[in-house]
Amino acid sequence: LPPTTHVTVIGGGLAGCEAAFQLAARGVDVTLYEMRPAVEGPAHYTGDLAELVCSNSFKSTDPGTAPGMLKTDLEALGSVTLACARMAAVPAGTALAVDRQAFSHAVETALVALPHLTLVRREVSDVPAEGPVIIASGPLTSAALEPAISRLVGSDRLAFFDAAAPIVDAATIDRAVCFAASRYDKGGGADYLNCPMDKAEYDAFIAALLAAARVNRRDFETDDLFQACQPVEEVARRGADAPRFGALKPVGLTDPRTGRWPWAVVQLRPEDRAGASYNLVGFQTNLTFPEQRRVFRMIPGLENAEFLRFGVMHRNTFVDAPRLLTSDLALRADPRVRLAGQLTGTEGYMEAAASGLLAALGTYAAMTGAPAVALPADTAFGALVAYATDPETADYQPMHVNFGLLPALEPHVRDKRARHAALADRGAASIRAFVASRPDLAFGVLAAAMGDRS
Ligand SMILES: Cc1cc2nc3c(=O)[nH]c(=O)nc-3n(C[C@H](O)[C@H](O)[C@H](O)COP(=O)(O)OP(=O)(O)OC[C@H]3O[C@@H](n4cnc5c(N)ncnc54)[C@H](O)[C@@H]3O)c2cc1C
Repeated sequence: LPPTTHVTVIGGGLAGCEAAFQLAARGVDVTLYEMRPAVEGPAHYTGDLAELVCSNSFKSTDPGTAPGMLKTDLEALGSVTLACARMAAVPAGTALAVDRQAFSHAVETALVALPHLTLVRREVSDVPAEGPVIIASGPLTSAALEPAISRLVGSDRLAFFDAAAPIVDAATIDRAVCFAASRYDKGGGADYLNCPMDKAEYDAFIAALLAAARVNRRDFETDDLFQACQPVEEVARRGADAPRFGALKPVGLTDPRTGRWPWAVVQLRPEDRAGASYNLVGFQTNLTFPEQRRVFRMIPGLENAEFLRFGVMHRNTFVDAPRLLTSDLALRADPRVRLAGQLTGTEGYMEAAASGLLAALGTYAAMTGAPAVALPADTAFGALVAYATDPETADYQPMHVNFGLLPALEPHVRDKRARHAALADRGAASIRAFVASRPDLAFGVLAAAMGDRS
């Protein structure tokens, strides 16, 4: 058993609950602080632990999808969140959807049953100066705590909203249409892929963009958002030509098939070093996801594009993880403190739970003098963490698990379904081998703690 040092976990959401459970179940004394119900959050409605702020879905269970692969990781690592979600499941085809109250109840029951866990309902405004700490206060971290986090990470490393452009799978971009070039051939290479538009294509695209359905944002999300970053449809609203003089400007981009600059150009920038995925430059957007798929597929070369993530714009407190965090989510500058959940810039309920689990394993390893924890990079969550904590990752925006982050298969498998199945098999084998290789991390506590209930 580990030494008696006590761990503080701040935030009783998806990440904080998972982290607190994993440590307390291993015999570590944990105090979990949750501000609700005394202090209300802008999107939470109850005082429940692990409240789902929006959808009641944990996405697909199909192992041949990235969310399905993530569940394989969580299963192997012994996630309490996943176990509780299964206990609270409602019929939803291949998705894992839950009765949200039953889910929160299951999580709270699992936590309060642990003798080493103390739940304190109080807003935290300072990070304890001693002992291991896991901060998991979420995308809507309370204003009282933000200055303390800012002091820890540096104010220039903390963002308060998320304005991310969509990302497409490189394999689904039509290279017969797009051409590789940098503007005026500067920078020595052809890093960008360029989707050329003639006038008719541009006009039709702008008309569709202006007519498309947008997400209704809630009040707390509208405050600072637009001042900082204009969505592409807002730019178009200023005048049909405005995007052509902004993100879609064609100057300096000669289409090799015509020898001329097109009327407008959508530029695609590589998202990862392997060039497995590209983002649409300047396309932060507030369109609904189905509308993004429909309208952005009007862009020449993207007719069959698969979206690895859609653009989003909402309030979101998160840190510049590539510059700040180690592979087990400790602050490089103060390894006593770990971050978990959306604060690290991972996005999604299950991703939050996974990062809580990883932060707990990292804390446990540090407390017991075990080697540091690094998840295999060919697992769904290991790949996401590798991306999020790689100092080479530029312009970091929140990200969920996706196939584009995984190392390529050798040799390449052409058929998509077969490729995804092979990636899933490789990841499943890796996470099981990882668990088997680390008996020092005391996997297996979930079954012991949950007994018949799981
Ligand atoms: C509006 C919104 C909708 C979302 N919808 C979805 C969705 O449908 N599906 C999906 O997969 N992801 C969604 N996400 C993204 C993300 O997966 C969730 O936000 C997820 O809950 C993040 O988990 P977390 O543990 O990091 O934060 P949370 O689950 O938000 O937990 C953080 C906890 O910390 C508490 N807290 C905050 N400050 C303090 C403090 N100072 N002291 C003590 N406690 C504090 C909060 O009350 C909260 O309980 C959404 C995000 C937002 C903002």
